[in-house]
Amino acid sequence: MTTSEEIDIVIVGGGICGLATALALHRKGIGSIVLERSETLRATGAAIGVLPNGWRALHQLGLDSTLRSTAIPFQRALDIWVDKGVVRETYMSEGEARCIKRSDLIEALANELPSGTVRSGFQVLSVDVEKLSSNPVLQLSDGSLIKTKVLIGCDGANSVIAKFLSLTPLKLFSKCAVRGLTIYPNGHGFSPEFLRIRKDNHLVGRIPMDEKTVYWFTVMAGTQRDSGMPKDPISIRALTLSLTAGFSTEIVEMIQNSDLDSLSLTHLRYRAPWSLLLGNSRKGAVTVAGDAWHVMGPFLGQGGSAALEDAVVLARCLSKKAYRPHSNGSGLLLSEHKAREALDEYVKERRLRIVHLSSLTYLRGLLLVGDPSLLLRFMCIIILFVVFRDPLKHTRYDCGEL
Ligand SMILES: Cc1cc2nc3c(=O)[nH]c(=O)nc-3n(C[C@H](O)[C@H](O)[C@H](O)COP(=O)(O)OP(=O)(O)OC[C@H]3O[C@@H](n4cnc5c(N)ncnc54)[C@H](O)[C@@H]3O)c2cc1C
Repeated sequence: MTTSEEIDIVIVGGGICGLATALALHRKGIGSIVLERSETLRATGAAIGVLPNGWRALHQLGLDSTLRSTAIPFQRALDIWVDKGVVRETYMSEGEARCIKRSDLIEALANELPSGTVRSGFQVLSVDVEKLSSNPVLQLSDGSLIKTKVLIGCDGANSVIAKFLSLTPLKLFSKCAVRGLTIYPNGHGFSPEFLRIRKDNHLVGRIPMDEKTVYWFTVMAGTQRDSGMPKDPISIRALTLSLTAGFSTEIVEMIQNSDLDSLSLTHLRYRAPWSLLLGNSRKGAVTVAGDAWHVMGPFLGQGGSAALEDAVVLARCLSKKAYRPHSNGSGLLLSEHKAREALDEYVKERRLRIVHLSSLTYLRGLLLVGDPSLLLRFMCIIILFVVFRDPLKHTRYDCGEL
């Protein structure tokens, strides 16, 4: 096998997780290369809610103050069941909760990386293992090969690296989500709160980001599988409007006036929490992080923050265990054997946290938008009450110092 290039650490995927991992490593003086299949960095999904645990991770990456200035805080969530006439108020967190533009987050992460770290337009097709060294070798879509000592898969839900690790296949929720931004040139006048309205088996959420911009999403039943789903923004908006026609004028107008460039439609999927408990997330010098490992539904708003936490913990484990100063004083030297131990430490440290978040997300999702039988509903409520009694515990998590 001929290799065209050899790189110590390769990260596949330039989304939140891949960029955050590269940045966390960079902050520790460790270089890496991020391979991103798109020609430019993507910020699909309009915006992202970040709760205190996510802000703690952003603080470790040195990005919290930059991003804080881009969005107003919110604390309260207001849940309205239109059909049942029920209104309930809940608190999202005891600390900082803000909804930031994904493009601001991606840009902030990318801007802090040394130039040349991100290689756009590089799609990884498969992973192989070199017989002699047992190091991973990546096959790229342009026919080239890259050999590496550590491979980190941050390539999202349909991860090639997760397949290499033989993680269990993803499961589909029976729902789709549309996300978008709406700009109100004269100000929206909404309270700084997370509003969630349920009607006719559909859910609409809205969070103000500043005085003029709101992030909204819908979780809708009855849409087709991936192949049949509309991809162009005008069709996505038309589909969303048709399914939310019975909502208030304020909501319908918000969708009608949305910024077309911000719209995206996604079929909701997850990796089963029980498989995360047992699955092997490290094979040789290869591991996964972010959605590639633990894609979960959006019902807790924690997938992105969990990806940031992964990045901090992974970089900490690698820098502590796998690197030592070069004897000639010129930077750090990677030990391949120690790197594998470092990846094991990362998986061990993250596993329970990931299982906790994924399980809570799954149960919340089942109650929020699923249609469980009475017995299943009762069981979900009992588990939530017994195992996840403190509803804000997951937001108090601290991934620790980089
Ligand atoms: C409707 C919805 C709402 C959500 N709301 C929130 C929220 O409020 N708060 C929150 O924290 N999380 C939220 N999430 C979850 C969050 O969006 C994800 O957890 C997060 O984006 C994961 O980031 P990632 O970098 O792991 O994966 P991705 O964002 O999927 O990035 C993967 C990257 O890898 C690239 N890639 C893929 N395959 C290859 C390949 N073979 N070669 C090279 N590159 C490749 C892709 O192009 C992409 O850029 C939500 C999710 C959904 C669906």
